[in-house]
Amino acid sequence: MNLILLGPPGAGKGTQAQRLERNRGLIQLSTGDMLRQAVAAGTPIGLQAGVIMEAGGLVPDDVVVGIIGERISHQDCLGGFILDGFPRTVAQAEALDNLLAARGLKLDHVIEMRVVDDILIERVTGRFTCGTCGAGYNKTSQPPKVAGICDRCGGTEFVRRADDNEVSMRKRLAAFHAQTAPLLPYYKAKGVLSTIDGMAAIEQVAQAIDKVLEGAGK
Ligand code: AMP
Repeated sequence: MNLILLGPPGAGKGTQAQRLERNRGLIQLSTGDMLRQAVAAGTPIGLQAGVIMEAGGLVPDDVVVGIIGERISHQDCLGGFILDGFPRTVAQAEALDNLLAARGLKLDHVIEMRVVDDILIERVTGRFTCGTCGAGYNKTSQPPKVAGICDRCGGTEFVRRADDNEVSMRKRLAAFHAQTAPLLPYYKAKGVLSTIDGMAAIEQVAQAIDKVLEGAGK
């Protein structure tokens, strides 16, 4: 099964993609994570993308399409994947259609996770992750059980994304509304779109996604 989690930054796409990866053996394909790896490694793509990402803009379509095209050709994606943060423009969605068609693959579901902007800003400016295992937390809604210690691995170093500040976040939201929201009618017309409430608790959102994947949520 191949699916897209579609939603603004902070909607919970990564959290839900990781859960689907654990429970269903699907591969999470996050262009944001891939680009952050490229930035950390100092590759030419990373050098080009880093400045744009920190400012909250979108990396050029050909760059992200190239990354995804290469990644979905790997053997492990044949068992199904979750696109998280891609596509973000209609041009990327059209390129994805071509990439899938060329590989004889199909898109089973596009799940829109809907959250209002004010909540997104609060979520994103409060989030941080364990520097050792990557477990995600939020200052107000999901702090570690013991302050300063990761629940999952006991790590004590935490990291914040460079673009998780209010100035970048407002730009990321503007990019979402202007460039990514047009994907909703695009996928609705293809009959693959379902919308769920991304403001519910993580477990309830997970159940809503499961319902869609089991064919009952449209
Ligand atoms: P994310 O982790 O999905 O929030 O992505 C972080 C940043 O990476 C975004 O704000 C963009 O600058 C860049 N990015 C990630 N995915 C894409 C994409 N599909 N198209 C363009 N830029 C992207």
